[in-house]
Amino acid sequence: MEEIIAIVEIKNNKFKNYDYEVISKARKIAKENNLNNSTIILAKNSDEIRAGLKHFQLEKVNIFNYKNEQEYDSKLKKEIILEIIKENNPKIILFPGNVFGKDIAPRLSAKLDIPLLTDCVEIECTDQDISITRPIFTGKILQKNKILNSGCIITIKPNSFSIEKEKSSGLEINIIDENQYENKGIKLIEIKKPEIEKIDVLDADIIVSGGRGLQDPDKFNIIEELAKVLGAATGASRAVVDAGWRPYSEQVGQTGKIVSPKLYIACGISGAVQHQVGMINSDIIVAINKDPNAPIFKFADYGIIGDVFDIVPALTNEFKNILDK
Ligand code: FAD
Repeated sequence: MEEIIAIVEIKNNKFKNYDYEVISKARKIAKENNLNNSTIILAKNSDEIRAGLKHFQLEKVNIFNYKNEQEYDSKLKKEIILEIIKENNPKIILFPGNVFGKDIAPRLSAKLDIPLLTDCVEIECTDQDISITRPIFTGKILQKNKILNSGCIITIKPNSFSIEKEKSSGLEINIIDENQYENKGIKLIEIKKPEIEKIDVLDADIIVSGGRGLQDPDKFNIIEELAKVLGAATGASRAVVDAGWRPYSEQVGQTGKIVSPKLYIACGISGAVQHQVGMINSDIIVAINKDPNAPIFKFADYGIIGDVFDIVPALTNEFKNILDK
C-alpha cells in the first residue's frame, strides 16, 4: 500500500507547533485516502519526545536517536532518512517549512527523483493525483499544482493547517540507535544565541504587534515593554518592516509569517487584508487604533479606540500590577 510519511527534527526535546502540524496533517491525509502512515523523528530520544507523540493515533514511528544533536550535518540527515525509507513506497513525504525542512527536502527530492513543492497551504489527495496550493510572487498569487503518476515531497508553510489531536491507543515506536553515521562533512562548532533571546512569532502564545501608527522605530519600545511583561513575542506589519523599523522575522501576514497565538494584540495596525490573513487564526484579537473606522475593528474580538501612546503603557502597567501579585 502507498504511504504518507511525516519527517521532523526535534531539538531540545521540544515539539514546535509546525512539527505537530506536519504529523497531524499526514495522519489526516492517510485516514481520508486509506494510505499507510509513518512518522520519522530525528531527535535525542527522551520521555518528552515519546510523550509528545501520544496526542496522535500514529501507526508507525521511527525515532532516529541522535547521540549529540549537533553532530549531524545535512548530508548525514539525508542519508539517515534514505536508509529508513528504503523499503517504503511513499506517495507523499511531508516536512515542516522550517530550516530543517527547507534544508533536507530538496536533497531528498534530488536523490529520489520526485518533485518537491515548498510552502504549501493546501493539500488535496485522491487516488489519481495530489493537488497542492502554494503562494508565489511574494504571496500575490496562489498557485495550484497537480502531481500526476508520481510521489512528491511537500514542505508545509507553518500555521497553515489545524492540529488535530486524538488519543493514541498503544503506539509502536521503533528506536534506531546507529553508530554507522559519521560526520565527514560540515561540523557545527558553536551556536551563538542573541543576548536577549527573542520568542519567534511562530512559537508564541501571545504576540504584541506594532504598525505604522507607532510613527517612529524608537517608539516600538512601548511594544517591547508590553511584550516583556506578558512573555510575548513582538510582531510587526509589513509597512514598518519595509520601512526598516523592524526585522522581517517579525512580519505577520501574507508575505510574512502566518501565526496562530492564543492572544494577538495589534497596536496602530489598520488591518489590511494582507495582514489579516496572517493573524486571523489567533484565538483572541485585540486591536488598539485611534480611527474608529479602521478595518481591523471588523474582525477584532476586542477593540480599543484610542492613542497607542496612552493605551499601550497603561496596559503594561496594569498587567505588571496583576502579574506581580
Ligand atoms: P497603515 O495601513 O498605515 O495603518 C496604520 C494604522 O495606525 C491606521 O489604522 C491608523 O489609524 C493607526 N494609527 C495611527 N496613529 C495612531 C496612534 N497614535 N494610535 C493608534 N492608532 C494609530 N502587510 C502586512 O502587514 N503583512 C504582510 O505580509 C503584507 N503582505 C503584503 C503583500 C502584498 C502583495 C501587498 C500588496 C501588500 C502587503 N501588505 C502586508 C501591506 C498591507 O497592504 C498594508 O499596507 C500594511 O499592512 C499596512 O500596515 P499598517 O497597518 O502598519 O499601516
